[in-house]
Parts: sequence; C-alpha cells; structure tokens
Amino acid sequence: MSQATAYERFVRWLDARVTREGRGDLLDALDVDPSGVFWLGRLAPESAAVARPGRERRMDPCAVGARIRPTASGPWVFRVRVEACGWHRVAAGSSGGANDKWAKSEIVTVDVPIDMPTGVERSFGAETITTRLRAAGVTATAEIRVTDESWRDGRPELTVELVNTTPEGKQVPRGERYLFQTKLTISGLNTIPYILESLPDSFRYDRSLDAIGINCGVEHDRATGTLTTADTVVVERRRPEYTFDDTARSVLDLTFDTLAQTPLEPTNQLAAAYRRWGDRHWSDQVLDARAQREGWSTDMADYARTEADAYRAEAARIRRGVQILASDATLRQAFTLMNEAMSLAARGKYPDWRPFQLGFILSVLPSLVDGQKEWDTVEIVWFATGGGKTETYLGLLLLAAFYDRLRGKRSGITAWSRFPLRMLSLQQTQRFADALAAGELVRRRHDIKGHPIALGYFIGGTSTPNEIPKHPTETNDINVEDDAMPAKYQVLARCSFCAQHTIETRFNRREWRLEHHCRNEHCDLAGEPLPLYIVDAEIYRFLPTVVIGTLDKASVIGMQANMRGFVHGPTAWCTREGHGFTYAKRGSRKNGCLVPDCDAPTRPITDEQRSRFAPTFRLQDELHLLRDSLGAVDSHYEAILDGLQRELTGRTCKIIASSATLEGYSRQVDTLYSRPGRVFPQAGPTAGESFWSRETDRLLRRFVAVWPRGVTLEWVSDRTTTILQQSVRDLMADPETLSREIGIDPKHVPDIVNLYGTDVIYGNTVRDVEAARRSMGTQVPVEPLRVESLTGQTSFTEVRDVLAALINPGADFADRIHVLTASSMISHGVDVDRLNIMTVLGVPLTTAEFIQATARVGRTHPGLVYVIHKVGRERDSTVYSHFRAFVDQGDRFVEPIPVTRSSRKVLELTTPAAVEARRLFVHEPRSPQQRLTTIQLLREYVNLTGVSPDVEVDAIAATLGVRDTEYLLREDLETDLKDGYYAKLQEYGLGLKWPSELLGRRPMLSLRDVESQIPISDD
Ligand SMILES: [Zn+2]
Ligand SMILES: [Zn+2]
Repeated sequence: MSQATAYERFVRWLDARVTREGRGDLLDALDVDPSGVFWLGRLAPESAAVARPGRERRMDPCAVGARIRPTASGPWVFRVRVEACGWHRVAAGSSGGANDKWAKSEIVTVDVPIDMPTGVERSFGAETITTRLRAAGVTATAEIRVTDESWRDGRPELTVELVNTTPEGKQVPRGERYLFQTKLTISGLNTIPYILESLPDSFRYDRSLDAIGINCGVEHDRATGTLTTADTVVVERRRPEYTFDDTARSVLDLTFDTLAQTPLEPTNQLAAAYRRWGDRHWSDQVLDARAQREGWSTDMADYARTEADAYRAEAARIRRGVQILASDATLRQAFTLMNEAMSLAARGKYPDWRPFQLGFILSVLPSLVDGQKEWDTVEIVWFATGGGKTETYLGLLLLAAFYDRLRGKRSGITAWSRFPLRMLSLQQTQRFADALAAGELVRRRHDIKGHPIALGYFIGGTSTPNEIPKHPTETNDINVEDDAMPAKYQVLARCSFCAQHTIETRFNRREWRLEHHCRNEHCDLAGEPLPLYIVDAEIYRFLPTVVIGTLDKASVIGMQANMRGFVHGPTAWCTREGHGFTYAKRGSRKNGCLVPDCDAPTRPITDEQRSRFAPTFRLQDELHLLRDSLGAVDSHYEAILDGLQRELTGRTCKIIASSATLEGYSRQVDTLYSRPGRVFPQAGPTAGESFWSRETDRLLRRFVAVWPRGVTLEWVSDRTTTILQQSVRDLMADPETLSREIGIDPKHVPDIVNLYGTDVIYGNTVRDVEAARRSMGTQVPVEPLRVESLTGQTSFTEVRDVLAALINPGADFADRIHVLTASSMISHGVDVDRLNIMTVLGVPLTTAEFIQATARVGRTHPGLVYVIHKVGRERDSTVYSHFRAFVDQGDRFVEPIPVTRSSRKVLELTTPAAVEARRLFVHEPRSPQQRLTTIQLLREYVNLTGVSPDVEVDAIAATLGVRDTEYLLREDLETDLKDGYYAKLQEYGLGLKWPSELLGRRPMLSLRDVESQIPISDD
C-alpha cells in the first residue's frame, strides 16, 4: 500500500473516532449528565424546544431529517428506519449531579411504513417507536413527522423528520429526556434532486443537491436510492494534478534545463497543445452539444460563449509570447538565464515548470516587449493555493531582472512586491531569497554586467530597522555597540546560496551595513555578505533588484525623500566604497549620503541614467484582501506612486497581482489601479478540469462540518482536540493493534505521528484564538501539550521560532508543538507540510478567507478540516445548509470585494501624502538649493518658479487619481490646497516651520492607520 493511501485511511479513521466520541458510541456508562457531553446525534425534547426562540431551537434541535423532492405527486408510500438510544440515571449522587451514575440503553431500531396523503402534516410510528424505546428502558418518546411542502412551488416536496416528543417533566433528569445516536433512513421513494440557484458560470458546475438536511447532513446512496441522516456533513476534495494528456512529462518537456538550452520548441509545443485542447472543449459544436445534453438556459449558453472567447484570447496571448521569444534575442537570452536560475534554485527538488506557470509567463511577455500596448492591463494570477504561484512570480521577476540587465539597466529596482498583511511571511522571504541568489549565481556565471541581483526586505518598524542610528535615540534604540543586536534581525533561516543553516548576521561598521553572512567556507558567497538588505536605509542606498514587503510600506512615499528610487532614481553616488546612492541633502546629511557623518564627495547620476531606475513591476499578493478602508486608502497611494513615476519618467509600472477571488475582480482592479485587469488562467469548461489542472482520485482535504448540538463551540473544540491528540498518542503507544484497526502497515506510523501530531486551531478573531489557547491548558487533559500561537500580535522573533519548530520538529514527540492556535495571520505564506489537521472555530467572515485558511493544511498530504459552526449565526447556518457546494464550489461563493476610491474621508487622509510626495520628488529636485525642507525655502521656491495653486490642484488631482467627474472630491482638494496650503504658505507670522504643517494634517504612518501622527524634523 502506498504511503498516500495509508495517510488517507488514517485521516478517515481519525475522523470516525471523533464522530463516535461526539455521539457517545463507545461509552455505556457516564458519571455526568450526557446532555452536557455529546454534541452529535442527540435530540432535545420538543416540549423544551418550542418554548425557545428559533435561534436557540437550532442550537439544541429536537428533530433531524431531510427535505426531499419525490419524483411523483402524492400520495406517497415509503419506509423510514429510525435508530436511537437513551441514557438513564441509575444512581443519583449527593448534590447538583455530582457523582451521578448514568447508563446507556441498547440501540433501538424501528422500521416504520409511511403512507402519506397529500396536503397534510402527519405523524407515523409514534406508538411503535415509543414501545420499543420503553422496552429498552428509555424514558424519551419519538415519532416520524412527514409534512407535504408541495405548496411552496407546486412541485412535490416533503419533509421527513424524527422528532423527540418527550413531554415536560421536571422530575425526570434532563439527560433522560434526550435521544442519542439518532439516525433516520428513508427508502423506497424515488426522488429528484434540488437545483441550486443559478449563478453566471453555472454551466461549469453540477448544481444538483439530492436532499436538504434538517439540522444534519444527508447521505444519498445512488445505488439503492436511500437517504440517511449524517451527524456531520463530510466533503472530500481531490488533489489536483498539473501535467497529463498533452502536457504529460513524457510528451512535453518543460524542464528548466531544457528551456535554458532550447526554449523555443517546448514553448511552441505548449501553445499548440493548448490550442488543440481548446478545439476539443471550447468549440461551438462542443458547446452546442453540451447545451443540448445538459439543458442549458440561453443565459448559460451565452455565458459559455463569452468564456470560450476569453479562452481564445488567452491562447492567442500565449502564442504571441512564443513568437516574441523567437524574434527578440535579448528577451530569449533573459528567458534562458531565468530557467537556468530556476533550475539552480530548485536544487533538484522539482525539475520543471507546471504548464500553467510557464503559460502565465509566456502570456505576460507581449506586454513586456510590445511597449505600452497592454502595459496597463493588470495581470492577475489565480491558482489554487499550493499550485506554485510564488515560483511563477519568481520566474517572471528573474526574467525581468535579466531583461533589465541585458538592456542596460545595471542597477535599481526591477520589482516591488507587496503583501497585504502586517507581517511578511519569513518562508516567503526565504523563497524569494533562494531564487534571487540563483539568479545572482547565473549572472556571475555568464558575466552579465551590473549590480548583484539582490533582495530587499522592506518591512521596517518592529520587525527590521528603518535605519541604524549612530547612537541609540528615543525613537530608535538600536545600539551598534551591542554584540547581540545583529542576531535579532536574522531574516533567513538558511543560506540562499548553499542552503545550509550557516547564516549569521553582522554589523559592518565601515560600510554601516547589517549583513547576512554564510559561515560555510565552501559556499559561493563565503567571505562576502549575501546580497540581501533588511534595513530601510540600506534599501534606499542600494536599490536591490527585488524589494518585498508589506503593503503598508507605501505610506513612506509621503514622508521619505529617500523613496525616490521607487518611482524614479537616486540623486547621486557617494564616492566612498560601500555607501551606495545618495538622496536629498538634509541638516544631518550634508552630501545626501545615508551613512552617518559621511562627507565624501558625490558622483552625479545623469537624467538619462536616472530615468532607467524606476521599477518595471509592482506586485500585489492576495489582491482580494485590499478591500474596505484598506483598499480605498491603497487606491490613492497606488495613484500617488503611478502619478509620480509617470510625471518623472513618462511611464508607470506594470502591475501583477494574485488573488484568491475571481468575483468582481475587474471592478476591484479599476478601483485600485484605474486600469483594466485580466485573470490567468481562464477557467476550464467544467469544474475541476481545465487544460492546466484536473482532479485525481487522491484525497486533498476532508472537510467536516460540525453543528454543535446543545453544547458550546468551545466544548466541541476542546473535545475534538483532545480526541485528535489522544488518537495520535494511542497510535504511538500501540502501533500494531491500531494499524490493524486502521488497515495500514505499521511502518507508516512514525510518519503519521510526524504529519498528524500537530493540530491547528483557527480563530476568526484574536480573542477567539486567545480563548482557544487558554482553554488548552485547562480543558484538554493530554500530557504533555505544547501550545503555540500565531496571530498578528505575535512578535517577529516568536513567529520565526514557532515556524522553525514546526518545520523542523524535534525527534522527541513530547518536545514538538502539539497545538497551534492561529488567526488569519497564517493564511498567507505559511506553508508547512506537517500541518494537516485544522479545527476552524466558526465559518470565517469571507469565503476567500475560508479557502486561504484551510489551504494551510493538507498541502502535500491528506488534510482533515473540522469546521465547527457558530450555531447562533445566520451565516454559519446558511453555510451548513449547503456545505457541500460551499466547499466544492467555494470560488463561486466568494463575495464581491467592497472597495471604493471616491471617498471624501479617504481623500482627507491621503491628500497630505500626495502633497508631500510632490514636494519631495517633483519640486525639491527642481529647486535651486535642492532643498525644500522649510516653509521659508518652499515659499521662495514657489515665488521664484511661479508654481500656481491651480496647476498644483490639477497635478495633485491627477496624482491621486481624482477623476474630473468627482466634483465633491475636486472641491475638497481645491479648498485644501488653495485656501489652506497655499494661503498659509504666503502668510507670515503663523509660527509654522515645516511644510507638512501647512495642511494641518500629516501623511498617514500606515495605510491602516487613520489616527496616527508623525514627528517631524529637518530630516
Ligand atoms: Zn552559504
Ligand atoms: Zn557616503
């Protein structure tokens, strides 16, 4: 048996254990009331439920069953089988239920014939069921209740429920009035499925739903036609594969090594194969035939044709990419060098491209070369998580970096990649560093001129330094005398050049650099610092090829003259070795060099050189997270970046994005960037299969929807974790017996313990996560239990240590992390193959977040995901009722992104940055003294050059992307600038000194921060 099969069996066995424990299958004695223990399979008495409002009734339901559509109209004759048991108190303890003794009855099975007339609600089997329950010593009573619901839309429809009819009775202990381990089976009735509400791309999906569960899941046995209630709703997703048929490795060679040698033939073959496949799946005849067979509506057929056109456009772009590769020798060379670097970076772990990765890169080539033609189109990469998106990005970045170098851009930023979270994943950083290191080695090997291909880690703030001060200050306590200081800022876990864990950080006093060094003497980089810059000031000084960081960092554009290299180019070179580029002169920096006390002469950069510096790409990861106020604020900052770059260099960056969402992307892209957008790859004509990927029969993730009945979500979560942990420990303790029970070879046990010994508990809020963490200590009776937490509030060094412990667990199980409580902080860029079990506390607020969060588990091995619903919430209730569709077709349930740019409130927040950025990047370099740091200097400049407020209003409106039709925004800007800024500028005696005081508002410190203020100085 293969390893994968063994893991699948383990996952299903584990889940069966949790479900059995949830129902109490394995117990026949208890010393507490069972109604406070079990969360599955129980039924509360109706008499208690009717007294409660609907929401509470849902929390502890008194009925389970199914809503079905019989094929024929009534009367209906069929059979229902009921299974249930009860618990009774055999001995009462002293007080308050302590020391009670409870015993379980046998399971009672009753077959009830149903002869159901039309138009009524009717009970069946009350007497038989109750008699049988009594005989087994059960106090509770029950009946089958069938209701004709055909009135709803005229078509036959029934609800069939098992109802607990136990009457009120205060003298009977609570638990005795419940039924447990209930199950209902409907047979002998032909039914037709429900059709899910039609959505635009419904031609791709199976929209049928066999039955709708009432307070439970329903399983349909297609062979016999029986419907059975299930305590959990289980949906298993299959693992995709990326090479098959025309793209199988035996047919199409997309290895990096081959593409580095002979790029044209394989890319040509790929383009041709895509076209052939399209003829087979998207042609008019094929669509017509499907429309006939599947009964498409006109809308569905029209939509399918639109999608077919989108496929053809994509196929044409890929063909054009291949043509350009053939005709442009420089680009071809960049492409081969990139492949050589990808091969090096992969270190033999994966030898080739997945077809869609290469397809995307080819599809972007036309806009790289065809000048401005499709430059403005935002290219959105949409791959299932785990599909290899980052490698695709990296390939494109390396290609662009080589293309830049070969065309004479020898230094400066090629791409600025932004992540929307507060913290950037260190794993992601390592992957970027590895790829760029390979790029640098290839650059050296081929003697390509220019600066090293380097990486900038542009985070600042609490994670990495903004700058290294000469002496610790009030706002920056970094102390260069402190020998322990450099170690705090180690960003890479292993060397990006030799992959060894031989990295150390050092402070280089002479060059004033915080350097990563490799101690491995056989490393290619032995003796020199890695081309990695983690201090903001060093990023300005060296403008590394690729800068990665958080989206928030865009706010610096309104505060920091040294950001000039992100939209244009630096001022000059410092002639002292290792000092790098210089920027605007300041009181503390006489020559503009960012190394403290440097007074070396500078070497000028010509305008022509400077115009080459601006980045080629801005990348935006997780585009769907740019919503609400963050999206609105960012849209203005994107406009500032574009506006400055366009004014200073005559062009803008190309924007590449990734998204987990396809819904409403064009509106979102238009709002954020004022540009058109398109998604790659185009989805295939049926769900789960396209040219680029299809589902295999291997288990990807098993999703289990849990509706906690009568107990709290916290109780269920704690119990689930206990069982999950205990099961792994049981397996370790007795591998022979349990392996037999699971049906696997015991040799797999150590790997299973390694891969399934850590449970992730995912909370939607930091409060949920903290509560879960606290209850681990008291409510989960498993020893030892190491619990760690990852939230947005976890410090940089803690994140680093927790990740390291997850990736490289100790040999001893006891020392490992057993439970990881986490927030959405882990949803992006935390890729640990050892995380395979997750409990989700309440359905996340957005479907995109659900997809991203649950994708953290089961990346390489079968995953198990419990989604414990918050039964009081309407959304959870809705998701539970169509959980299968929610998981299978999650992408379609993703909500459109709410984002707008036309907000006066947002404009009020972003105007200061636009005004300040123009002062720093547009006006200051034009001013006689290259300095506009004070109001006095600015006034002299304005009066000398005659910069008119009217022209500035236009320019700032353009910079902020305020459209002419947005009258209110326009008016706000005019008032702000004419009546405020420029009026005050000419007014003496206001006691103001700094230009940033003229508006009365300062640029935002962070894109999320609406309240913050910044200290100002001549700096
Ligand atoms: Zn090394
Ligand atoms: Zn210098």
